Amino acid sequence: MIVGHLPAGYLYGRFVSAKLAGTRADPRQVLIAALVGSVFPDIDMLYFLLVDERQHHHHTYWTHYPIVWLAFLFAAFIVFRLCSRRRREAVLAMIFTSAAILHLVLDSIVGDVRWFAPFVDRTYAMFSVPALHQPWWFNFVLHWSFGLEILLSAWALWCWRRQRAIV
Ligand SMILES: [Zn+2]
Repeated sequence: MIVGHLPAGYLYGRFVSAKLAGTRADPRQVLIAALVGSVFPDIDMLYFLLVDERQHHHHTYWTHYPIVWLAFLFAAFIVFRLCSRRRREAVLAMIFTSAAILHLVLDSIVGDVRWFAPFVDRTYAMFSVPALHQPWWFNFVLHWSFGLEILLSAWALWCWRRQRAIV
């Protein structure tokens, strides 16, 4: 997924905000946690470009290992259950980590994700994108799955404009 992560994070943040309405959760913080979490796994592009010199696909880094985000989510849940003074931070951490997991699910539509790493060194993708064009990203932009990204973007834009009209 190329452009769909942030719109998906926005939609997810709005969804969670609605679910937490009436609680002490700050809708603005909830939205920020979802937005940042929805793109955070791709921070490994900095390592890919600046340190690794494009030697390995960035999906091979631990930032794209589901077990890492599931462990963080579990840790945040434990804090939520055991530490009543840190509940608000724990909720935000759970939103952040679950948005990162959403990122990996969306990456899996046409991108290879190692769902069982580090135990199984095998990639999983729901659909494959044939390498027909140059540069590489043309293959993704011209693939049907990019329509899903446009749809997510349009849906998020529509929700954002609707929200602004209400406020
Ligand atoms: Zn990614």
